[in-house]
Amino acid sequence: MSKWVNFKKLREALDFNQVLLDYGVEVSVKRDQATAFCPLPGHKERSKRKSKSFSVNLKRGIFQCFGCQAKGNVLDFAVLMDGRDPDDIESFRRSAVQLQTRYFGAATAAEKADRGKETVEEYSDGEEDLEHVVNAPLDFELKRLDAEHAYLRERGLTPETIAHFGLGYCSRGMMTGRVVIPLHDQTGQLIGYAGRLVDESAVSDENPKYKLPGNRRKDDVVHEFRKSAFVYNGHRLAGPLADLIVVEGFFGAMWLYQCGYANVVALMGSSCSERQGEVLVDLLLPDGRLWVMSDGDDAGEKCGLSVLAAVAPHRFVRWARLETGQQPDNLSMEALAAVLGNHLLA
Ligand SMILES: [Zn+2]
Repeated sequence: MSKWVNFKKLREALDFNQVLLDYGVEVSVKRDQATAFCPLPGHKERSKRKSKSFSVNLKRGIFQCFGCQAKGNVLDFAVLMDGRDPDDIESFRRSAVQLQTRYFGAATAAEKADRGKETVEEYSDGEEDLEHVVNAPLDFELKRLDAEHAYLRERGLTPETIAHFGLGYCSRGMMTGRVVIPLHDQTGQLIGYAGRLVDESAVSDENPKYKLPGNRRKDDVVHEFRKSAFVYNGHRLAGPLADLIVVEGFFGAMWLYQCGYANVVALMGSSCSERQGEVLVDLLLPDGRLWVMSDGDDAGEKCGLSVLAAVAPHRFVRWARLETGQQPDNLSMEALAAVLGNHLLA
């Protein structure tokens, strides 16, 4: 599991000069300024070694290279030296944990007592001076996805449905071994991908069934992903609608779409946040109806209640209850029609 680390405290506690020595960087030090041939793996002209373009302000704990333009604090330096990407929060964290362990051993008792926070908060705790942006548009798109992967067929999805939702199997990068599901905010901007592991036997604590976007750091801005701030498939619906169905999971939404119930969104989990409630209300006409089809289990029961709490004060809500053990994506068309009626079919 991930280890706790306070980035800010660690940064302040580290002696940049010591870190340079440990990474084998030969420096000339003049007062608080250390200079060297750039040691960073990303520095392209390193072999030429023309000038000492790399300098560190030891007092302020920051470095900069005039050759490759890299700059940052002692943690950024370590991440780059480790060949990792400082913009990727997990990579950043890994290098930081290594430094903390190397110089200070395990976290102190006081630091441990400080725990019990979500990863997001742990991170912001150490980077409180950084700006946070929630669900920013992605600046890349996953390419070469396999839309004909057996997993998608086995879930009963047709090529039309697969294309409609932009699904495909990913065979490289962070999402290797997963069917990826593009996620859009209500305005239709791509804000990330969810990845469903296709090999059920590979599911573990470290390798969850669903992987959602993590936080990323870019140009001193923390990009935070929050599924509670939107609903899946909401951007494809031209509201306000007379009827809208809400389910828990991605595949439930896809299955209902394929069965002819186009006005469907998913919460991406078994609770409806206040913000998601607002999105649902906005998608409906003032006299429109929300149909809740949560899974037939305890989590689904809680889910239904959270939707009622968020939406019922504003719109008519009807709970289309499923029997124990059922979920929307394993119901036949007839079973769906029995619960929802035929008038919801597009
Ligand atoms: Zn450089």
